[in-house]
Amino acid sequence: DLYPVKRALLSVSDKTGLAQLGKALATKGVELLSTGGSAKALRDAGLEVKDVSEVTGFPEMMDGRVKTLHPRVHGGLLALRDNAEHVAAMDEHGIGGIDLLVVNLYPFEAALARGADYDEMIENIDIGGPAMIRAAAKNHGFVTTVVDVEDYDALIAELDANDGQTSYAFRQKMAQIAYARTGAYDAAVSNWMAGAIGEEAPRRRVVAGQIKQTLRYGENPHQSAAFYVDGSERPGVATAVQHQGKELSYNNINDTDAAFELVAEFDPAETPAVAIIKHANPCGVAKGETLLDAYKAAFDCDRTSAFGGIVALNKALDAQTAEAITEIFTEVVIAPGASDEAKEIFAKKKNLRLLTTEALPDVLAKPSTIRQVAGGYLFQDKDAGFVGMDDLKVVTEKAPTPEQMKDLLFAWKVAKHVKSNAIVYVKDQATVGVGAGQMSRLDSALIAAKKAERMAEAMGLPEPLTKGSAVASDAFFPFADGLLEAAAAGASCVIQPGGSMRDQEVIDAANEAGLAMVLTGMRHFRH
Ligand code: 5GP
Repeated sequence: DLYPVKRALLSVSDKTGLAQLGKALATKGVELLSTGGSAKALRDAGLEVKDVSEVTGFPEMMDGRVKTLHPRVHGGLLALRDNAEHVAAMDEHGIGGIDLLVVNLYPFEAALARGADYDEMIENIDIGGPAMIRAAAKNHGFVTTVVDVEDYDALIAELDANDGQTSYAFRQKMAQIAYARTGAYDAAVSNWMAGAIGEEAPRRRVVAGQIKQTLRYGENPHQSAAFYVDGSERPGVATAVQHQGKELSYNNINDTDAAFELVAEFDPAETPAVAIIKHANPCGVAKGETLLDAYKAAFDCDRTSAFGGIVALNKALDAQTAEAITEIFTEVVIAPGASDEAKEIFAKKKNLRLLTTEALPDVLAKPSTIRQVAGGYLFQDKDAGFVGMDDLKVVTEKAPTPEQMKDLLFAWKVAKHVKSNAIVYVKDQATVGVGAGQMSRLDSALIAAKKAERMAEAMGLPEPLTKGSAVASDAFFPFADGLLEAAAAGASCVIQPGGSMRDQEVIDAANEAGLAMVLTGMRHFRH
């Protein structure tokens, strides 16, 4: 199953490692064919190269749109070397076999990431590259296809190990990678076009990505797992730089994402904010005069659960906050930057992972999110729903004071990031009780209040911080019971979408309990 590499075609947009690869191939006596820019790079490295235009008898034309689209290229890639008719056709038409194809495509994804305009995107759609890759990969019985700079070393090692030949298993493996690449490439083009024409639910939609990390395991040790990036390069856990600590786990990645998306709700130009996450739900979120204040207030919401949590900051990590974070066991910290002093403090905690990004996630962007169900995928826009002061409707006799209003809006932002049914108590711009993921709204209200009671006991406070708090409910109260539970816990004002058949019953109960209540007209289910 070994097949020799005698003639190679190299056509790459990313010239990284090209000269080295060319030299290694030339040393093995491989004849090099190449397209314009790649040929120049190889010649600059002192190598002998034949231009593809010389092989085809046509110049590269139409701004490079037509370079390699020719039977002398595609015949050389596709011909079955053990088929007499194919070999005769090669002889008759002067087609030389091409045993190795090294291509990396026009940087469409990079153009997308830098926000190139429509025409530029179109010019970045590679035509000849994918055509050659698909041809060579199809003919992996004889031809080796390499589409990734990362595989150059493996290719050389393979040729070294087999005296200038490649094994069938190697060619097969490279072909599988090649088709993943062309598939992902066209997926990126199609998804870009869907966005460009404003197609929210395109008739055909493709999911593709590039592997970033093979994970040790999934949610549990008996599940295998991997982390793929979609090439969009949005600020977040997929593009963050890790400064220290063990490799991120599946759960780390999921929880870090939840933490960073939540803290990004709070504009760093206004105030520092901190979110502490456990199992993708917040166990404390707070704003503060300083990051340290915010961290302490977030921590005080639920000190028990914060242990082993993920901490996200909306500003660069500073030394004081870093010091406070290291006082308990924390899995991951993510922030848009970190001071050198902060990094030094963390360096003493070998297992603590520190991730930094250039910016915060854009909370108003609405990229597609995907969830898998048996036999299909669910697509939806990310929940970028936002309500401001002007969107709120006061429905009770009492109206919230400006202070209460601030806490209500804070609670509402947090509730959006809590698994339904979500009940969030807030006091002075910090959560003081979070009830998440219960099957009844009443239970979420009860659990959040209970946790606040336990924290008050642990901290030696005379009464739970839910006394005089603002409470948010991610969806309407179907009955008055959940609202009454919040009132019993001491809430003084409520924010909720409204829209229940029993809205009036709930409003009456609020008036009777002396609560101020506002309706958002928008809900934030998160299942
Ligand atoms: P070079 O820098 O060598 O001039 O161009 C290399 C790039 O051209 C590679 O990304 C390769 O995929 C692409 N390419 C090769 N042949 C063709 C072709 O016939 N049409 C188009 N549009 N691109 C091609």
